[in-house]
Amino acid sequence: MARDKKLIVANWKMNMGVHESSLYLHELSRMIQPRRDVEVVLAPETLALQTLSVQINHRQFKLAAQNFYWRDHGAFTGEVSATMLRGIVQYGLVGHSERRNIFHESDKDIRAKVQAAIRNNIKPILCIGETASERAWGETLDVINDQLIGGLANITSEELEDVTIAYEPVWAIGSGQNALPYDVTIAARGIRSQIKHLYGAKAAENIAILYGGSVTAESAADYLAIPDVDGLLVGGASLDAHIFSEIVDKAHSKSTVVKKG
Ligand code: PEP
Repeated sequence: MARDKKLIVANWKMNMGVHESSLYLHELSRMIQPRRDVEVVLAPETLALQTLSVQINHRQFKLAAQNFYWRDHGAFTGEVSATMLRGIVQYGLVGHSERRNIFHESDKDIRAKVQAAIRNNIKPILCIGETASERAWGETLDVINDQLIGGLANITSEELEDVTIAYEPVWAIGSGQNALPYDVTIAARGIRSQIKHLYGAKAAENIAILYGGSVTAESAADYLAIPDVDGLLVGGASLDAHIFSEIVDKAHSKSTVVKKG
C-alpha cells in the first residue's frame, strides 16, 4: 500500500448478516465517492464477502476478511482458508486483539496467517498493540517490537511491501477510550524504528501504519494529521453510514491538504 493514499478500514466485526451487509453497502455507496487519495476497505462477516464482492464498485471500495485459517486446504472443520478468499478480498486482518485474546491466537498462528495471506495475494493488515496493564508498566514499545518480530518472522523485504501495520492499543478497542494523538505518534514512530531495524530505512519509510481504537468522526482528523499515520481501522463507528462517511471525508480532506502544502 503506497503511502500517498490514506487507508480507511471498516471492521464490522460479527454484526450484520448477508442481507443487512448488502443493504448497508448500498447505503455507503451513495454516501462515499471514489477518491484517488483514499482507499476504503470494508470487512464484513465472512458469509457476506462473496455477495459484496459481486455488488461492490471496486474503484469505490475494497474488501477485507476479518479472519481466515493459515492452511490452504485440508481436514480443518469449520475453517475458511486464504486460498478460498483469494480473488474475493484484497486485504485480510491478522492478529486483531479479539482474535489474540478471545480465540487465543499466538504469534506463531499470526505469522502463519501473514504468510498465508501473502501466498494467496491478500494484503495482510497486521494488528498490534499493548493491553492496559502493559501500558501501565511502560511496556508499549516492547510489546510493539515483540509483536512485529512475532508476526513478521519469515516475511521478506519484498513481501513486506504488501503488509500494513495497524496500531490498536487493546484498551482503546471498543472502549470509547481512544489513545491520545501524542501516544499514537510515539507508537507509530516506534513501529517505523522497529521496521527499520528489521528491514532497513526504505522499508520503514514505505510501510503504511494505521491507528485503531474508538475512532469517531470527531477524533479522526487528529490521528490523520500525525505524519507517521497513514489511515484508520474503525470498528464501532463504521456501523453508522453517516459517521463512517464523515471519517472517510476527513481522510480525503487531509490528503488534499498534504498535497497542496
Ligand atoms: C477494531 O475493531 O479494530 C476497532 C478499532 O474497534 P473500535 O473502533 O470499535 O474501537
